[in-house]
Amino acid sequence: MDADLLAHALAAKGFMPPAEGRFLYEQATQQLALGPGLEVGTYCGKSAIYLGAAARETAGTVFTVDHHRGSEENQVGWEHHDSSLVDPEFELLDTLPTFRKTILRAGLQNQVVAIVGASVTVAAHWNTPLALLFIDGGHGVGPAHDDYQAWAPKVMPGGLMLIHDVFESPAEGGRPPYEIYLRALTDGFVETGRRGSMRALRAPC
Ligand code: SAH
Ligand code: MG
Repeated sequence: MDADLLAHALAAKGFMPPAEGRFLYEQATQQLALGPGLEVGTYCGKSAIYLGAAARETAGTVFTVDHHRGSEENQVGWEHHDSSLVDPEFELLDTLPTFRKTILRAGLQNQVVAIVGASVTVAAHWNTPLALLFIDGGHGVGPAHDDYQAWAPKVMPGGLMLIHDVFESPAEGGRPPYEIYLRALTDGFVETGRRGSMRALRAPC
């Protein structure tokens, strides 16, 4: 991966360990010449840099969906809250300004396209088959299953879906991403790779 983009990815705010980011980048380089990629869960754009780096190499495009108000675990009083991301007028989390700076700083504004809105609302109007889908949005039972149900059918035949924060053992983390990973296997996706909590699944043809 381009050293300058890697430095931007490492410096960006977010929740993507370097080895898993690298895996995301590698998987995306195999897919993004075939069609668009879409990420659910932008936050501040850290994972989007890894995807954008692959898009730049393949002349591809990555869309990234978020309402930018944070997940449950990002709200005040929760483990992953960052008070520097709160909009003082509304006292609501707003990760969009930080995302825009992160992507512009990395120079990926032509590869990474933000879609601001609720994941299922965007999905309801999305009709382009996806070469790559990356699910990393809300990790509660409702949001994770909703994202899977709304977006998994948009993956093109033989396309790739990646799911983040999949923990087999409840001691390591929450269950919903693991549950949707199991659903994908039941639905005919085939696991083709994994690194850390990232799982890569090939859609049926
Ligand atoms: N991929 C990011 C981390 C994403 S954190 C990184 O690598 O750093 C999860 C994100 O999902 C949060 O920014 C939150 O706002 C978003 N999110 C949660 N539920 C959502 C929903 N229903 N619709 C849109 N975005 C949602
Ligand atoms: Mg994650």
